[in-house]
Amino acid sequence: MGLQPDRTVAELRELQELTGDENGAQRVAWTDTWERAREWLRGKVAGLAVEEQVDQAGNQWFTLPGASERELLIGGHIDSVPNGGWLDGCLNLVAGVEVLRRVAADGQPPVTVRLVNWADEEGARFGRSLFGSSAAAGSMNDQDELRQLTDRDGVSLPHALAEHGVDLDRAVEARSQLENAAAYLELHIEQGPVLEGLGLPLGAVLGTFGVERHRITWTGQAAHAGSTPMDRRRDALAGAAKLALEIRGIAARVGAGAVCTSGGVVCKPGIVTSVVETAEQLLDQRHLDADKLAALLADAKDAAGRFAEEENVEVAWERIWSIEPILFHSALVDMCDAAIEDIAGASHRLPSGPLHDAAEVSRAGIPTVMMFVQSLRGLSHTKLEDTKPEHIELAVEALDKLATDAIAWVAAGSP
Ligand SMILES: [Zn+2]
Repeated sequence: MGLQPDRTVAELRELQELTGDENGAQRVAWTDTWERAREWLRGKVAGLAVEEQVDQAGNQWFTLPGASERELLIGGHIDSVPNGGWLDGCLNLVAGVEVLRRVAADGQPPVTVRLVNWADEEGARFGRSLFGSSAAAGSMNDQDELRQLTDRDGVSLPHALAEHGVDLDRAVEARSQLENAAAYLELHIEQGPVLEGLGLPLGAVLGTFGVERHRITWTGQAAHAGSTPMDRRRDALAGAAKLALEIRGIAARVGAGAVCTSGGVVCKPGIVTSVVETAEQLLDQRHLDADKLAALLADAKDAAGRFAEEENVEVAWERIWSIEPILFHSALVDMCDAAIEDIAGASHRLPSGPLHDAAEVSRAGIPTVMMFVQSLRGLSHTKLEDTKPEHIELAVEALDKLATDAIAWVAAGSP
């Protein structure tokens, strides 16, 4: 029996039925529903000559041994956000199962093929994303902070993990799983509007955006709204407001897909009868190119200094979080692009705004690529998330083609 892409759509509906409700998917990591989804996935590969292993970080691996120990990995995550969609993360796995079935039916592959279900990609319960993949990639270096995390009910992360057989202190031992990995593929819904806007079902992903996140504190002077003349004010909000508008121009000037967001401003004293004394502004800047990301930040800092002078206020920057751009492997991006053209007639190369497990695997030095399938209305992390069934079927076919080519590439000793 060859590839049956329509089976993927049917199985995704089945998973939705089993682990969702009227508000959407409820497969939050480290819960009973998540465990039920993992068991369901186990059932889907039963009957194939694959071996299952759950590693020290809770990642679920299905291994189809090949003639060589070198491995092609296909990955996804079955966990969802609360009230999530029916495709985010699980599409990758269910399509991966279909590819695994086809590969197994063709006899022993030249290289070992593994499907991995990463544990807790979303970080929905404890606020720490990419848990399992960062453990395997060797980039989990925040175990002291992880130990302190609790969910909304006060349950600690180590406790929740232990209930699912995972010892936080040993999670980093999952690193051994990537020892023989030679290539990693991840199919995902785009979660944005680009492919739909272009009228294309599929795209090859160049990499994930680098991110700079800052808290900018503007400090002026609280003063009476009635008695303070306009030219005597030191209005902290004025600086924040100017910057919130200026970042649009900065993004346009730096270009090449730059995005900047002033996601919030908290004003104090925050009453209608006072000039704003402090304005705490949040800024998120993203770019696929490290130099352009640095330019976004430098330009925003310059502009902020200028606005502080104009408004006679002070401004201070504090970095909240940052990550460098992660570029996927160029040979695999080309291969992905070609597979898409072959199956869908046309392809498009695009960056990923969101981070994915693939970024962690790529950071670990393993040649990686992602394929995006069009999201309707660009919506995700909501029950409204959707993709046309015919596009899901094309995605399964294109992933299968990419896997075939990647197996040959790994077997030939590349890169
Ligand atoms: Zn996802």
